[in-house]
Amino acid sequence: ATETVTVELADRSYDILVGHGALDQLGARLSAMLKRPRVFVLTDETVERLHRHRLDEALRPVGISTNWKALPPGEKTKSFSNLEGILDWLLENSADRSDILIALGGGVIGDITGLAASLMKRGMGFVQVPTTLLAQVDSSVGGKTAVNTPRGKNMIGAFYQPRLVIADTELLETLPARELRAGYAEIVKYGLINDADFFTWLETHGEEVLALEPDAIAQAVATSCRAKAAIVAEDERETGVRALLNLGHTFGHALEAANGYAPDLLHGEAVAIGMALAFRYGAAEGITPAEDANRVRAHLEATGLQSVIPGKQGGPYTAENLVSLMQQDKKATAGRVPLILARGIGKSYIHQDADLASVETFLQAEL
Ligand code: NAD
Ligand code: ZN
Repeated sequence: ATETVTVELADRSYDILVGHGALDQLGARLSAMLKRPRVFVLTDETVERLHRHRLDEALRPVGISTNWKALPPGEKTKSFSNLEGILDWLLENSADRSDILIALGGGVIGDITGLAASLMKRGMGFVQVPTTLLAQVDSSVGGKTAVNTPRGKNMIGAFYQPRLVIADTELLETLPARELRAGYAEIVKYGLINDADFFTWLETHGEEVLALEPDAIAQAVATSCRAKAAIVAEDERETGVRALLNLGHTFGHALEAANGYAPDLLHGEAVAIGMALAFRYGAAEGITPAEDANRVRAHLEATGLQSVIPGKQGGPYTAENLVSLMQQDKKATAGRVPLILARGIGKSYIHQDADLASVETFLQAEL
């Protein structure tokens, strides 16, 4: 069974198809969109090896031919030079605006492919087939695309919405357990933002989600996509409520940056710690009930995620260093930064001017 989540935007809407085997519907959907029976597919080498045949099988019955390009896996792939390479490959194969470029992969492939689609002749069709849990519940929904530069992550990008997203949960079966858990942190985030019942459901069913039991993982992905779709529909360009999606991310990004984006701390792992920190900071400030902060920590730990700052002797995580990284937030003003805090589980809000001196005192006590 496939569930359809619709993202309703001011000028246009698109569907997210979620479920075990949802890729079977790709052929019919593409046939309805294409002028010519061909598509371009961008992926990474790992995903190509594991899942290229699934996409080819889904398109063969409808007679759509595929033109593939695979980039090396990893964050470094999200570069200007690869963006240029993709655009050149599309031009070489005389792609035009009526063609569709499919991103088959995790957030790295989704982000650079979406940006390439937005630039190609000022915008060609774009379809996302996310293959990591993080990409299925987060990066493939909402239209943010980007590449990195040596001056910062995701600094160059565009808002560019896909025409269709297919989150086939069967593709997650080859994902390493650690990547799966990191994506699960973003699922927990939606419960903490505004859906306490979903968090309670995760406390009971989280094990089944992580074991990829078909009904449980499909329900978790669909609920997450619905939550993100609702927030994006309200605020596509992040002038208001979309900032709630940054719960755990201000602390999390500081941890990732302090660690030099080394692979021993994945984005989702940093976000898990960041969410636990946001709840404990809220408790220290008398905003968040301590029992809710304890529930968050207990659930993250029960699913194998960390909820405290990793202790590394002489390591990069000092309160001073983390606060100075938080100060570099795009929206920070002198000594203050907007933080997503919570009045309880499912009751997150944008705390406009968190005082970084009190954050530093809090972090000192955490370390
Ligand atoms: P990723 O794309 O690097 O994928 C992680 C690893 O999993 C890669 O090695 C990949 O080859 C492998 N992989 C992918 N699918 C697999 C599968 N089915 N089986 C086995 N291995 C598989 O990373 P990610 O965590 O998916 O995404 C992280 C990126 O997403 C970051 O660049 C981040 O900036 C971006 N992001 C974007 C948004 C957005 O709104 N656009 C939101 C969150 C994150
Ligand atoms: Zn995130």
